[in-house]
Amino acid sequence: MIHLPDHLQTHDDRFLGLVHPMSQLEQLATGFTWTEGPVWFGDHECLLFSDIPSQRIMRYSDREGLSVYRAGSQFNNGNTRDRQGRLIGCRHGARDVVRTEFDGTLTVLADSYDGKRLNSPNDVVVSSDGAVWFTDPTYGILSSFEGHEAPREQAANHVFRLDPVTGTLAPVVSDFVQPNGLVFSPDERRLYIAESGSSHDDAVPSVIRQFDVAEGGALTDAGVFATIDNGLPDGMRVDTQGNLWSSAADGVHCFAPDGTLLGKILVPETVANLAFGGADGFRMYIAGTTSLYRIFVNVKGAEPWTRSSRQR
Ligand code: MG
Repeated sequence: MIHLPDHLQTHDDRFLGLVHPMSQLEQLATGFTWTEGPVWFGDHECLLFSDIPSQRIMRYSDREGLSVYRAGSQFNNGNTRDRQGRLIGCRHGARDVVRTEFDGTLTVLADSYDGKRLNSPNDVVVSSDGAVWFTDPTYGILSSFEGHEAPREQAANHVFRLDPVTGTLAPVVSDFVQPNGLVFSPDERRLYIAESGSSHDDAVPSVIRQFDVAEGGALTDAGVFATIDNGLPDGMRVDTQGNLWSSAADGVHCFAPDGTLLGKILVPETVANLAFGGADGFRMYIAGTTSLYRIFVNVKGAEPWTRSSRQR
């Protein structure tokens, strides 16, 4: 029988193949206020991540350590990359979704719908056809801790899709209390969206919902994928085998494609988001409240920029 260290909790034997008994949980950096939005840049051998209240996007690399990638980030939260590799971010302060161009300038992709300002875009993913999908809960306008307190203008807390051809922004789901992290299955036929409404209302279930994705982006509700049994789901990532890794209060929870809880990576701080990466692809970076953590995992991320197999 394989004995795992205390920070790796097995709920199903399949988890043993996804981690390693020698996996240590490294605390790479600390002293932040509320970390979010990790995203791997293998081409720069670094991770970018947000410290939302301090309005900074941080950069971590093994060679150069920690630095500030962008100050005055407008409470930037979730990050991803598009298929050209450009950074796409959600800004609570500006209440928009922005793309960082190759020359460093910012292009606003979306900041209003139906003639009204967005709430505070939270997390974003880009599908392989170039569509930009993002959640728009109210966390950045509820108070001025991670944005600017302001009344909600939108009729609901939508999940949006920005069409890559027409440029049309349209809600694809509108019945979440607070939609948060979102991620596609590797074949993009399924979209998972986190419901984090229990942050302000205990009556809201802490669930990850799943949707079937049709050609053109229409979604069909396929019910609850999984329930988070400790805290709530925020950011999520999927590995190449289709397992879903979700943030939770006690760490990172790993679910099989059928929703079975396989295991947990226990982290000493509440986790808001995670990202696969590392020079060999076998690392998970974890944004845990005041700290950035990293752990070896025996599987790679499904995102194209996390599947490195290069020899160094
Ligand atoms: Mg989030």
